[in-house]
Amino acid sequence: MTNCCEKTILHGNVTVGDNGLLRFAGVDTADLAAKYGTPLYLFDTDRIRERCKLYQSEMKAAFGGDSRPLYAGKAFCTKAIYRIMAECGMSVDLVSPGELFTAKSAGFPMERAFFHGNNKTDADIALALDAGVGCFVCDSREELVALDRIAGERGVCQKILLRVTPGIDPHTFAAVTTGKVDSKFGSPIATGAALELAKLALSLEHIDLDGFHCHIGSQIFDVTPYVDASNVMLSFIKDVKDATGFTAKTLNLGGGFGVRYTESDPEFDYAEAIKALAKAVKEAAQSNGLPTPTVLLEPGRSIVADAGMTLYTVGTVKEIPGFRTYVSVDGGMPDNPRYALYRSVYTVVNATHADKAPDRAVTVAGRCCESGDLIAEGARIATPVRGDLLAVLVTGAYNYSMASNYNRIPRPPVVFLSEGKDALAVRRESFEDLVRNDL
Ligand SMILES: *Cc1c(COP(=O)(O)O)cnc(C)c1O
Repeated sequence: MTNCCEKTILHGNVTVGDNGLLRFAGVDTADLAAKYGTPLYLFDTDRIRERCKLYQSEMKAAFGGDSRPLYAGKAFCTKAIYRIMAECGMSVDLVSPGELFTAKSAGFPMERAFFHGNNKTDADIALALDAGVGCFVCDSREELVALDRIAGERGVCQKILLRVTPGIDPHTFAAVTTGKVDSKFGSPIATGAALELAKLALSLEHIDLDGFHCHIGSQIFDVTPYVDASNVMLSFIKDVKDATGFTAKTLNLGGGFGVRYTESDPEFDYAEAIKALAKAVKEAAQSNGLPTPTVLLEPGRSIVADAGMTLYTVGTVKEIPGFRTYVSVDGGMPDNPRYALYRSVYTVVNATHADKAPDRAVTVAGRCCESGDLIAEGARIATPVRGDLLAVLVTGAYNYSMASNYNRIPRPPVVFLSEGKDALAVRRESFEDLVRNDL
């Protein structure tokens, strides 16, 4: 869709048309705003498919065998995305019964689903067993015992991975760091707790331990912490083998590869990272006298983030001399809570004047009764006026999936773009939807 001479902004799927309007995945954003209204989530699904194929082919080439990516659905979870994942032959990661229900409703083959969660209830466990989930990622003693009992009631033996913490700090934000010893997830290798749980899992009749899982964090641009984690994990696999005779067949190294949100973020070469990781895993397996395990990765953000864009309409532009200029849009923290939660930085573009130089530093504010309802501070854009379209780039991950109805603001619709065509994937919420459960 993009021709060679078009100007691109940050990513190849964001371009400027001859009319000065911003285009996304080859489609005029103004046309989409006119057709669907704003705020509006857009997804370039060709990009999503490309990323899935990249992970699949690179992992197959580098690790061989059944090694593959699982899409972490928490990044962006709708029936339509699970249909795409099913078509792409992807496996998926589910972290709640609601995600499980969504995937199942979309007809996603449950044998290719992995069920996560640090506190699965008995009802969650029963639901996942009855749905035929391929593999549980078990997190605790309580879960192992409950799963064994509930699987036993059904006369089945459930395949599982055991989630452990390798004690790796990937130097990312504390709030998105999960592989350290001090974590609500998994059991630490360092304290011996992980080995104890492995022994327990091996002793339970209705549990079939297939291997181990770890997830070290998110938005990581360096393969080194993954190499460190795989070294820790393979020496743990060796310890488990020495203690029990059991050799893990599968090693799941989690998700977390970084995505470029702004010009100052590095370019990350996923293919190179996968190659480097494969080399490290093979070497670590060899030095521990182990066969190379089947390796799983769980990318979420890097599958969908730069396939997404949010469009807003500018309402008020308020300059406070000596302070700042507030540009208020018709969305905000209900559709993108990431600035409020993590101070996440986004690239903002005046989509109506995408050809003009970004001459103004502005604070993009939402419409909630909340001073913290900001999308960006210090964003450089072409000076906007009421009615201009504002695009926030790279919103495909953790925006729609984290959206709320705070202030009773309906969630925006999701529109999929492919080969220059648009199709509604999620309807705009109505006011009736907002009161649906109110008695
Ligand atoms: C969040 C999460 C992922 C996905 O992380 P990304 O940074 O989106 O790639 C994968 N696995 C687990 C267990 C997670 O919690």
